[in-house]
Amino acid sequence: LPGLSLRNVTKQFVSGDTVVTALNDVNLDLRKGECAALLGPSGAGKSTLLMIAGCLMAPTAGSVIIDGNVLYDSTAGERALHDDREFRRKHIGFVFQKAHLIPFLTAVENVQVAMEINDVRPSEARERAQVLLDDLGVGDRAGNLPRQLSGGQQQRVAVARALANEPSLLLADEPTAALDAQRARQVMELFQHIAHKRGASVIVVTHDHRALEHFDRILMQQDGRLSERSEPSEVAT
Ligand code: ADP
Ligand code: ADP
Repeated sequence: LPGLSLRNVTKQFVSGDTVVTALNDVNLDLRKGECAALLGPSGAGKSTLLMIAGCLMAPTAGSVIIDGNVLYDSTAGERALHDDREFRRKHIGFVFQKAHLIPFLTAVENVQVAMEINDVRPSEARERAQVLLDDLGVGDRAGNLPRQLSGGQQQRVAVARALANEPSLLLADEPTAALDAQRARQVMELFQHIAHKRGASVIVVTHDHRALEHFDRILMQQDGRLSERSEPSEVAT
């Protein structure tokens, strides 16, 4: 059973007389434990793909299946078959270009609150949040506020928060854009580790061609079409 399946997914944006086809008949099966990089020029539809995979947006046509749950299908039109918000909280983790931590909560509290909204008891949430921070190498920073952390450390806390509810799908939109080469490499390694060790399906949108060896699959989005490169070396840098 794949962690994520996109079947004939098309997304069009209509504004006035113009129709933009951001995704054109996209098909993708991502197994559990697979870590994929998603590359492509600006405007190619990468963010749109991520938003649809993350149930933040409905496709115009096609189906989205996450961990066996059919979220949208061709017959439903642009309508969710599940309560998106509830589904997202339980099954999907997001990491963005910036960490977007709550500035007045400590690192451990930022992770803890993500669990508490899913009804985990505060004491248990605290304990699990600390374990996640330990795993991600920022356990000694648990009591610090975001502004007391470096960019790389903040991004690790954001990854811990994204993992708080043990998502089957982890989606990251240019998570290393604000990091130097070494930190970027560490964060990419981290995603690979998360996929392999936790059995999550992971998609990382990146322009960063420095760390592609950490991915099991290299996906390329161009003019709304998705294709696959068999080797990282096939990707022009
Ligand atoms: P990428 O992430 O690869 O830069 P996007 O998915 O953001 O690409 O955009 C793909 C195409 O869809 C672009 O032509 C963009 O202008 C268009 N687009 C994205 N979102 C919207 C929207 N909300 N309304 C209209 N057009 C959009
Ligand atoms: P990272 O491994 O996250 O890239 P850096 O090399 O950037 O860490 O930072 C080294 C140390 O300096 C870290 O322990 C971090 O706590 C501290 N540090 C970096 N930036 C800041 C900042 N803006 N405010 C407070 N401490 C910082």
